[in-house]
Amino acid sequence: MSSIIKTINPYNGEEIKEYKQFSKSKIETCLALSEKTFETWKHVEISDRTKLLKKLSKNLIKNKQVYSELMTEEMGKPISQSNTEIEKCVFLADFYAKNSDQFLADDLIKTDAKESFISYDPLGCILGVMPWNYPFWQVLRFAIPTITAGNTVLLKHASNVTGCALAIQDLFDASGFPKGCFQTLIADHDQIDALIADQRIKAISLTGSEKAGRHMAEIAGKNLKKAVLELGGNNACIVLADADLDKHIETMVAARMQNTGQSCIAAKRFIVVEAIYEEFLEKFTKKVNDLKIGDPKEPETRISVLARVDLADTLKKQVDSSIKKGAKVVIGNRKDQAYFEPTIIIDVKPGMSVFDDETFGPVAAIIKVKDNDEAYQMASNSKFGLGTMVFTENFLEARKQISQISDGAFFINELVKSDPRLPFGGTKASGYGRELSKEGIQEFVNKKTVYIN
Ligand code: NAP
Repeated sequence: MSSIIKTINPYNGEEIKEYKQFSKSKIETCLALSEKTFETWKHVEISDRTKLLKKLSKNLIKNKQVYSELMTEEMGKPISQSNTEIEKCVFLADFYAKNSDQFLADDLIKTDAKESFISYDPLGCILGVMPWNYPFWQVLRFAIPTITAGNTVLLKHASNVTGCALAIQDLFDASGFPKGCFQTLIADHDQIDALIADQRIKAISLTGSEKAGRHMAEIAGKNLKKAVLELGGNNACIVLADADLDKHIETMVAARMQNTGQSCIAAKRFIVVEAIYEEFLEKFTKKVNDLKIGDPKEPETRISVLARVDLADTLKKQVDSSIKKGAKVVIGNRKDQAYFEPTIIIDVKPGMSVFDDETFGPVAAIIKVKDNDEAYQMASNSKFGLGTMVFTENFLEARKQISQISDGAFFINELVKSDPRLPFGGTKASGYGRELSKEGIQEFVNKKTVYIN
């Protein structure tokens, strides 16, 4: 029996819309169409596929306001940041429209053969399971390269952004992609488990929590199926004694507070050398206090509600349990429904939830350390491995750390961010595989060795 999914506006608690979960037979119809479309789509010239991407880019621009408002309504993202998200999706589409020909061209390799090369063949129907925090970006950064490589895609989006999920299917259809290239499924977890095990699904891509990653990777592994996993993070932001605070303090605040703190690559642990600690805390607190809090529909709003009430409840528990273990609140820690006040918490140590676990909201955990060595050791004391950032004027010293950092990214004097031109992904409990750039478009392909003698 199918059930009903309701989307709720987290700012006012009002119901937006009801959606009927797909029946088993409807999912079967989608899967069959995906397989059928793949048989023709895989033969379409890459240059023709990228022509459709250019249309998709234009449609994103045309519908920017509508899509932005939809995201803001469904998950409470401040509207200016929703606009930025759509602009970034345009950049992504344009990037793959321009470069996919080259990324997917046969790669000639000189051997004893008359001719030998790698050809990049699509795999088939790929399942994407995506989170709500960047409702358009997360889906498109997976789907655009995957479809351009000649695959077809089925999407299971987070249920609280079902409206966005359906809008993205319309976007692909309206841009001229053949029906079945991209389809949204409204499905529950059991239906997704069954799909991962289905031999017609050739691979999966999950962006989500560690818990979901472990669960889906197990089913994929049992079925010998490739998975790309983009999971949680607990990025350290290291502030060394010679950091230029006046230049970078706003970047550090944005690193934690953008998207109301709901970003996998956000700076979650600020590891500050004692020589600069007091100055950092004063400047950081002032900038956080300056953030305009309010209705996500207002253009000036920088911080609004979290995407769901239960996310704010979880955050409150994490902060309160850390306080019980000795951490102290400088500002914040007030919760009201889905709202969680921007919070700065000091005297944080390993063993506290705000140090050990991912905090998915506007909570900055500050850790004081005596010197650079302790700062880097503290930074790497995490089960996660998405990225580390360091702020310092000594670039030579910072560069020496590149090989010491085991994360998927190391940023010097910049917040960890994704860029279509650079690979993106994590290590350890943050998952495996890469998205974006050439690496991303080559994840769901058969890298076939061809040898002609
Ligand atoms: P989540 O609870 O794991 O959900 C992610 C997606 O997986 C949703 O579509 C969810 O569907 C689905 N899902 C969860 N458990 C499932 C199961 N057992 N079987 C089938 N589907 C399942 O994560 P979230 O709370 O939405 O997102 C926040 C997490 O994502 C954070 O940990 C964040 O760090 C991570 N994230 C990582 C990246 C990255 O690039 N590394 C980027 C963004 C977010 P339902 O909505 O129906 O439950």
